[in-house]
Amino acid sequence: MAAIIRSTCDDCGQVDIKAENVKLVRGERVTYKFTCPKCGQVVYKATDETIVGLLLTGGVEFEEVDTPVAVFHPEDPDLSAPLFTPDDVLKLHEELEDM
Ligand SMILES: [Zn+2]
Repeated sequence: MAAIIRSTCDDCGQVDIKAENVKLVRGERVTYKFTCPKCGQVVYKATDETIVGLLLTGGVEFEEVDTPVAVFHPEDPDLSAPLFTPDDVLKLHEELEDM
């Protein structure tokens, strides 16, 4: 039986996702992502080593991609800053249109 990963969606709150539907994503930092079972949006979450270990134990695998989805400034990494997500891209796009 597949493990269930409990996480949160910004819109829906707490959600349970099957481990097979969660992917770890390599970047400057490791994140994980899942498609919210309630609203269908892709949610990205920050991780630490403990969370990565738990996810791997639960059967979550690394996503195989050539380019990281999150791009970080290489010279001045602010590890406490929120991760750049597709939502941020949309928001930036809207702000540019308002200018
Ligand atoms: Zn949701």
